[in-house]
Amino acid sequence: SNYWSNVPMGPPDAILGVAEAFRKDTSPKKVNLGVGAYRDDNNKPYVLPSVRQAEENIFKKCLNHEYAPIGGDPVYCDLIAKLGLGENSLAIKEKRNATVQSISGTGALRLGFEFIGKHYNHAREIWMPSPTWGNHPQICNTLGITHKKYRYYDPNTLKFNLKGCCEDICSMPPGAIILLHACAHNPTGIDPKPEEWQILSEIIKEKRLLPFFDMAYQGFATGSVDNDAFAVRLFEKHGHQIILAQSFAKNMGLYGERVGGLTFVCADQDTAAKMMSQLKIMIRTLYSNPSINGSRIVTEILSSPELKAQWLKDVKEMADRIILMRKKLREGIEKRGSKHKWDHITSQIGMFCYTGLKPEQVLRMTKEFHIYLTKDGRISVAGICSSNVEHVAEAMHKVTA
Ligand code: PMP
Repeated sequence: SNYWSNVPMGPPDAILGVAEAFRKDTSPKKVNLGVGAYRDDNNKPYVLPSVRQAEENIFKKCLNHEYAPIGGDPVYCDLIAKLGLGENSLAIKEKRNATVQSISGTGALRLGFEFIGKHYNHAREIWMPSPTWGNHPQICNTLGITHKKYRYYDPNTLKFNLKGCCEDICSMPPGAIILLHACAHNPTGIDPKPEEWQILSEIIKEKRLLPFFDMAYQGFATGSVDNDAFAVRLFEKHGHQIILAQSFAKNMGLYGERVGGLTFVCADQDTAAKMMSQLKIMIRTLYSNPSINGSRIVTEILSSPELKAQWLKDVKEMADRIILMRKKLREGIEKRGSKHKWDHITSQIGMFCYTGLKPEQVLRMTKEFHIYLTKDGRISVAGICSSNVEHVAEAMHKVTA
């Protein structure tokens, strides 16, 4: 008999499904703008020079492969907390942070949400920007945690909707959790300006909400890891007990190493110690302890002043190439005589551009031009390079003409 005859075929993942379709296409002109992974100007996966050097250094140390502690290496945790919250973070100085290594950004979100599900006894609902990364609501659904939407993107102005966002925040119950993209908002590429973050921080505090920052792109928005951590550090300075999910997939190009972190900034050291103990109990039954290779690379880079300087250069170089491709793509569409406005291509930041292409136009991009992107019209600008930018511009012009 078939013990699993009840199991239905599930739909392919909205983003990873695009990569699958791309792989099957045999056209030499095909372009994958679906998944958010950086490519160099030859459209090849990129290993950062700082990462290569770190790997060599680690290899020479002839290290063993013993288990890491449940929460990850404390040296690693300390380094990444400082990278996120800043060298001068009061929370770190006062030992009020509970930081663990996570299975990249997704694992940090999953662990953080699960922790909320088990231990949070205030308004246990997570408010997410509309739109947001598709995995955010999915993780909540898996865990049975209520999630709701707040206004973020205004499709008319193609800008951040500060007024709508503030109104929605005012309607949230005290203690609710508000999920914020720390920088390089996915999928819109639109972040609040510093003065807007200031306003958000004030009303979030007034409403006694708990801010949960998802920081998957530190360095990718502006090319500077400090600039991109502005909001996180501002909120900490304002006394919020923030939760922070970090990923080194994008900014170190360590996608497949699955290395990241989860930090709870707590009210006091005693609470942080209790939180840490419960995080360890939760991790123990999920995956027991984290993998060691990725965190060794991150530790090697962040603990060596020379390697860290090289890494900051590497991040800037990736961000700059994306900014250049935005410019070329916009010029390419405009010089073909497009009747539409395309300034959002260059005003949006980070890895993605929310093009405004409608689902039927997206379909034509793929069918006629072999260009793969998600149905919402989001393109990964990191997949554009000198040799395909004209093809992409031509396609975007033709499908919107
Ligand atoms: N959050 C957001 C908003 C993302 O875009 C991503 C990556 N696509 C992640 C989290 C996590 O990615 P990873 O698990 O690869 O670190």
